[in-house]
Amino acid sequence: MTLGPLRRAGFESFYRISGRSGFLGEVDRMDAAYRGPRAALDAAAEERLRALLSHALETVPFYRQVRPVASADLADPAAAVRAFPVMTKAVIREQGLALRSERAEERTHWNTSGGSTGEPVRLLQDRTMTRAVTETKMLYMRWLGFEPGERHLLIWGAPQQTFREGISLRERVYRFLHHQQYLNCYEVSDGVLEGWIDEIRRRPPSVIEAYADAMFDLSRYALRHRRPLPRPRGIITSAGVLTDERRQAIQEAFGGCPVLNRYGSREVGDVGCSCPADTPIHVSELMYFVEVVDANGRPCAPGAEGDVLVTLLANRSMPLIRYRIEDRAAWADGECSCGRVSRRLLTVFGRQSDFLVAGDGTRINGTALTTLLYWVPNLRRFQFRQVQRDRVRFLVEPEDPAGAETLRAAMAAPLAKARQLLRGTEIELEVGPIAPSRSGKYRYIVNELTDPGAP
Ligand SMILES: [Zn+2]
Repeated sequence: MTLGPLRRAGFESFYRISGRSGFLGEVDRMDAAYRGPRAALDAAAEERLRALLSHALETVPFYRQVRPVASADLADPAAAVRAFPVMTKAVIREQGLALRSERAEERTHWNTSGGSTGEPVRLLQDRTMTRAVTETKMLYMRWLGFEPGERHLLIWGAPQQTFREGISLRERVYRFLHHQQYLNCYEVSDGVLEGWIDEIRRRPPSVIEAYADAMFDLSRYALRHRRPLPRPRGIITSAGVLTDERRQAIQEAFGGCPVLNRYGSREVGDVGCSCPADTPIHVSELMYFVEVVDANGRPCAPGAEGDVLVTLLANRSMPLIRYRIEDRAAWADGECSCGRVSRRLLTVFGRQSDFLVAGDGTRINGTALTTLLYWVPNLRRFQFRQVQRDRVRFLVEPEDPAGAETLRAAMAAPLAKARQLLRGTEIELEVGPIAPSRSGKYRYIVNELTDPGAP
C-alpha cells in the first residue's frame, strides 16, 4: 500500500487546521500571475509596493522622522522608493526598535541573519511574511512538477543533529505531513556521502532541496565512483553559488534532471529561482521589489553588475525597504523561453561560503558555525580562519569595544560547541577588530589550506 494519498490528505488537513486551506490555491494564483500578462503583474506588484511604503511612512517612527517622500509621490511607487535611504545592517543595528511598525501584527518573532556574511542582525518578522515565504518555496517546487505528499529530500544544515539537540514534536509532525527527510550537510566526509547515496537509492525522492556546495560534493563523488542515482523530478540548490560546472555535474549524476538555482537568504526569504528552461533567476516580484544599483546608487542597465537592494513586500511589522543584502548581480535582458514574464537576474555573486577541516578530515560547512552565533549579544561580526591543519583562529569583534570582556564571557558556550565540531583542531578565540579582505569584501570563513590566496 502506498502512503501517497494519505499524505496528501494529511498535508491538506494541516493547512486547513492552521487556517490556511487556501495555501495551494494561493501558490497556483502566484504561478498564473508570473505567467503574465506583464501589465497585470506590474499593476499587482506596484500596488503592493505602494501599500508598503505608505504603511512605513505612517506607522514606522524611523520613516516618519526621515520622511523620504510625501504621500502624494506614492502615485508612482517604483520611483518613490528610490528616495528612501538604503537600509544597511549598520542602520538596522543603530535604529533598532525605531524600525518597528506601531501597527505590527500580533504574532511576530525575531529572526537573525548572519549566515552568509558573518554580521548578525536582528529582524522582526510576522506570520504574513512566514506564510509568503512558505508559499514561494512551494511555488518553485511546483515548477518541477512536485505534488504535495511526494517525497521531499533536504540535504541541508541540521543543527539539531550536529549539536545533538532534540527535534520538537511540532517539527516532527510537520516533516511527516510534508514527507520531508533531512540529511545533515554540516559535516561531510566520504563515509557520509556513501550513506546519502544508499539512502537516495533506497528511497528515491521526488524533489531534492540542497546546499549547492553539498550537492556538488555528492554529485562529484557519485560520478567519480560510478554510482548512478535515480532521477528525481528536479533539484533545487540554494545557500551557495551554482556555477555552470556545478550544475552540469549535478545534472549528470542525477540522470539529467533539471537543476534550479534558488536565491535568497535567511533574513528575506527566497527572492527568486531559475526555471527549468534557462539559468537566470526569475524574481518573485509579488513578494520582492528588487533593485540593482551602481556605486552612485543609480539603477544598472541589463548586463551591468551592481549591488542588490531588496524591498520586502510582505512584512509590515518591520518594513525592510531597500535592504542591502550584500550580494552583487546584473539584470538579464529579454524574455525567458519558459513563458514566465517576471524579471530575471543573471548569476548572483557573493554568496561564497567555505568549509573548515576537522582533525579527522571531516569537512565542516561554514553555516554550521554561524548557527552558534545567532543570538550572542554585542557581537558585531565574526570570522573563522583555518591557518593550519590543526589550528583555527576564531575572531569576534564587539559592537561596543567597552563590552569586550562581556563578549569573551558570552563566547564560552559557542566556543565549546565549535571545539566539539572541529575535534582535533586547536581553536583560539581572539576578541578585537576584524580587518576586511584585500578585495574589501568581508568573509566569515577563511580557509588558508584550501584557498592559499586567501587574504
Ligand atoms: Zn524561465
